[in-house]
This record gives sequence, structure tokens and C-alpha cells, in this order.
Amino acid sequence: MAIRCPNCGSAHVQRCEVVHNAGTHRIRTSSFSQSTWNYTGESFGSDGSYTTSSGRASANQIGFQSSMVQTELARLVAPPQRKSFLPSAFVKGLLLLGIGSPVILMVPFFIVVVLPIAAIASGKYVLQGIAGIAVLLWLCFQRYKVVQRWNEQWELDYANWRNRWLCSACGNTFIPK
Ligand SMILES: [Zn+2]
Repeated sequence: MAIRCPNCGSAHVQRCEVVHNAGTHRIRTSSFSQSTWNYTGESFGSDGSYTTSSGRASANQIGFQSSMVQTELARLVAPPQRKSFLPSAFVKGLLLLGIGSPVILMVPFFIVVVLPIAAIASGKYVLQGIAGIAVLLWLCFQRYKVVQRWNEQWELDYANWRNRWLCSACGNTFIPK
């Protein structure tokens, strides 16, 4: 028996996963650029001679970029996403900062890791140092618990999503009985 939409009875139904994959494209674009410049050079020999040289040099640069294109429909029936320990926005932010100024990256690292260790090593601020590390570990643990709980639920949601169908007549999504 054909699967029908429980909402409107239409037989124009498709699995969400199929709709999603059909409307999602990963594209890779490449760019190619060439730069040329003139150069002049001079050199002094050990025998007192002086020579100049000039010419033209060139260099090629190839860049790759990958991105994802999705139709509105594919976005609508997208699968639930897993969470990772470090939020992807956070990682992206770090990478973006890293390109321009790696020094900025060192500031949070310095505060959360180096500072407490230095405090303990100093022998003067041992308690403060231990407290700093304890707070850091506690934050990591809280984050770990949140991610763990999310991903347990995600397993269920994802299995659910794989069984879910979309009706193209009324836009209803459903799990066939
Ligand atoms: Zn329907």
C-alpha cells in the first residue's frame, strides 16, 4: 500500500532525507591569480666588482573555498544537529581571530590556563590558582553534561527524522504507521 499523508490524504509524499539531500549541494570553488612584478638587484663581488640585474618575476596563487547551498525546502526538512564539546561558532571565531591576530587567541588561554598554573608555581597565590583551575574544570564538566544530554536526545531525534516523510501537497511532515 502506498504511503499517504495522514493530514490531506495526498500520495505526493517523499522521505525528508531524500528531499533534504536533493536540495543540498556542497560546492567547491577555486580561484587562480597570478602576480608579476619587476625587480632589480645589485651585488658587490669580493674583487670589488659591482653588478646589477633586473627582470620580471611572477607567482601563482591558487585558493579553494567550500560552501553549502541549500534550497528553502531542504532547510525546512534538515536533520537535527549534534552538538560538539566546543561550539562550532566558538571554533570559527577562534579561527577567524587567528588569521588576523594570533595574539588575541593567547589572551583567553593565558587567563584560564597559564595564569592559575603561574599562581600555584609562585607559591604565593596557591589557593587562588587552585580555585581558578577548579572553576575551569567545573565549567568544562557542565558543558560536557549539556552536550551529553543533547546528543542522547539527538540519537532519538535523528532516528525519528530518518523515518519522517514530507507531503508536498500540504507541507505536513509525518511518520508513517
Ligand atoms: Zn498532506
